[in-house]
Amino acid sequence: MASQEEVFKKLVSHCKEYGFVFPSSEIYDGLGAVYDYGQNGVELKNNIKKYWWDSMVLLNENVAGIDAAIFMHPTTWKASGHVDAFNDPLIDNKDSKKRYRADVLIEELLAKYDEKIQKEVDKAAKRFGESFDEAVFRSTNQRVLENQSRRDEIHARFVKALNESDLAGLKAIIEDYEVVCPISGTKNWTDVRQFNLMFSTEMGSTSEGAMKIYLRPETAQGIFVNYLNVQKTGRMKIPFGIAQIGKAFRNEIVARQFIFRMREFEQMEMQFFVRPGEEMQWFEFWKDRRLKWHKALGLGDHKYRFHDHEKLAHYANAATDIEFELPFGFKEVEGIHSRTDFDLGSHEKYSGKNIKYFDPELNQSYTPYVVETSIGLDRTFLSIMAAAYTEETLEGGDRRVVLKLPPALAPVKAAVLPLVKKDGLPEKAREIIDNLKFDFKCVYDEKDSIGKRYRRQDAIGTPFCITVDHQTIEDNTVTLRFRDNMQQERLPIDNLYSIIDGHTSMKQLFKKLL
Ligand code: ATP
Repeated sequence: MASQEEVFKKLVSHCKEYGFVFPSSEIYDGLGAVYDYGQNGVELKNNIKKYWWDSMVLLNENVAGIDAAIFMHPTTWKASGHVDAFNDPLIDNKDSKKRYRADVLIEELLAKYDEKIQKEVDKAAKRFGESFDEAVFRSTNQRVLENQSRRDEIHARFVKALNESDLAGLKAIIEDYEVVCPISGTKNWTDVRQFNLMFSTEMGSTSEGAMKIYLRPETAQGIFVNYLNVQKTGRMKIPFGIAQIGKAFRNEIVARQFIFRMREFEQMEMQFFVRPGEEMQWFEFWKDRRLKWHKALGLGDHKYRFHDHEKLAHYANAATDIEFELPFGFKEVEGIHSRTDFDLGSHEKYSGKNIKYFDPELNQSYTPYVVETSIGLDRTFLSIMAAAYTEETLEGGDRRVVLKLPPALAPVKAAVLPLVKKDGLPEKAREIIDNLKFDFKCVYDEKDSIGKRYRRQDAIGTPFCITVDHQTIEDNTVTLRFRDNMQQERLPIDNLYSIIDGHTSMKQLFKKLL
């Protein structure tokens, strides 16, 4: 069995080899944590966007979409708190000169204790078989109890240090529990410092006094400053939501793990405006809805979990993450936050404009509360790729790599393959594509043996291969091959549309959401 690290390495090279993700400006040796999507990557990404967008804007009458600019008036970021508080605590190892996020080092330390405990539990479960009582074991086993109490102790100190923004406290945890740098293996750490994650640039020429502006670190603020425009022009009534997909930029301190943590990335956010006091019920509603959205993809329900925040952001009164099990552990793909009236209240204060909502039912004006769902497009892409990537040994010892992508998201829906390059088969294949291409992304491939062509399509996750042979010319039938079980079926060309549509339409996913 390959280690998870090896699996991840293979996935990264697969993404490159098959046109999903390339390092940015690779001929100049790339740019840290910036990536480009290739010909298959962009199709997958667009399909994820469509799945998200339609699930918000088509399925909910009270959710409207917008597309705000990346640049915003700089006061926006003062009001949102990002100028003063959008920081990560960083720490350097003096020997390797590598930089880390202090909070991430401590989270990894906690995860190590969890792993130790889990190992003991798994070992005992194996030993005792059917009669194993996990709860009793956890509360009585000496080694588990010791590790658990150590973990609780670290956790309590961690939460306290975060809540008090106590940088020395964070460093003390790293020192007391002898966290070492994975590169140098030493404990020679600098102090912990705060680092603002926003990128800035200048607008206008210097002669006329250039203005310092920021590249937005989240898309949400474009929604907040427009909420009343949308509400009034769309005649929306509370509760209602505004959805947006767009780029965000963060000067991440530690940018490793491929497209998991990028400096330029894309977010899909929806801010839902509610009456004050009703936010908790909507928070629960959207938690449920969003988890369903993820699970409908069929990547495995056990790969998801909620993780409540250790420290609430300055604007939140409840927050949870949806985590997905990646090859390097459970990691956040989406945040669901109850942001109170912090943002709207703050924009009202800084702008001096009245942006209250008038509620005709209550006959009163108020600042709405906001529940947001904020998902990273690139992280979703990565989680789907990681779950889909499968190596299989076939009968006869042959191996294949197949991307078991949800068919609705697959970059190519059908490949049409003439068995030979003559006797009118290529023309027939083109004719089939011409009929299907209005509805499905199709490719034509006539090069190499049919087996090799199947492998190429497996590697990019194409759900269907359609083979055209001599019999096709005689009776208008083709062989349809299914990606996952590799079964083949002979059927009339006229049946192709309904079969492909039945398997790849997003409707199948949407029906699971409501
Ligand atoms: P993290 O703790 O991993 O830095 P975060 O809690 O700061 O993430 P949010 O501000 O809640 O993230 O952003 C919402 C979503 O945007 C995240 O769930 C994630 O999917 C995505 N996201 C945030 N930062 C990045 C990044 N640097 N690269 C890719 N996606 C990101």
